[in-house]
Amino acid sequence: MPIFQNASFYTTVNHLKDLPPTRAEVAFVGRSNAGKSSAINTLTNRTRLAYVSKTPGRTQHINFFDLGSERYLVDLPGYGFAQVPEAVRAHWVQLLGRYLQTRESLVGLIQIMDIRHPLKELDWKMLHFFIETNRPVHIMLSKADKLSRQEQAKALKEVKEKLSAYPQISIQLFSSLKKSGCETVEQIVEKWFAQ
Ligand code: GDP
Repeated sequence: MPIFQNASFYTTVNHLKDLPPTRAEVAFVGRSNAGKSSAINTLTNRTRLAYVSKTPGRTQHINFFDLGSERYLVDLPGYGFAQVPEAVRAHWVQLLGRYLQTRESLVGLIQIMDIRHPLKELDWKMLHFFIETNRPVHIMLSKADKLSRQEQAKALKEVKEKLSAYPQISIQLFSSLKKSGCETVEQIVEKWFAQ
């Protein structure tokens, strides 16, 4: 059974101090609109487990989904949401940074980037927060269906080149629309949990 298939809603928190204790968790992070909710819904085979919602108030929530066997999927708030004040955006980035740098049970980070706009400034910031801790990152270049095969390969190669200095980062193509790329991320996360 693929790792995400039995996911069920566990809890939502608004503050880091309220994070539940877990033994092992994998977190999904990405710029607002990158396709994170769609990716979670596709991987869990549920239509609305993660809301595909654009309401700024909602995006501050940290949602936990129970994967069974004391493992959890964590849906982090999207960053870079344009329609909120700069101070609020800065606060979210800080909150994400603290979570990424200090959460002991976090075994690895899944970062979602729109294949047409990868490695924006805030994406780098998140990467740096987390790779300092020496844990692995897996990047899903989402909405791959928006590009031709040739363009997809080119985009993948470019991102790989830009991140070649970081052996702990792996990268793949993904499309929620085509449901393609699920096995790759499932295998990576299974490996993280098994370690
Ligand atoms: P989030 O803000 O990162 O959670 O992004 P969403 O999952 O809400 O997706 C943002 C927009 O991109 C929505 O309009 C989705 O329908 C669209 N989208 C997400 N994934 C894909 C994909 O794989 N292919 C295409 N063509 N569109 C997608």
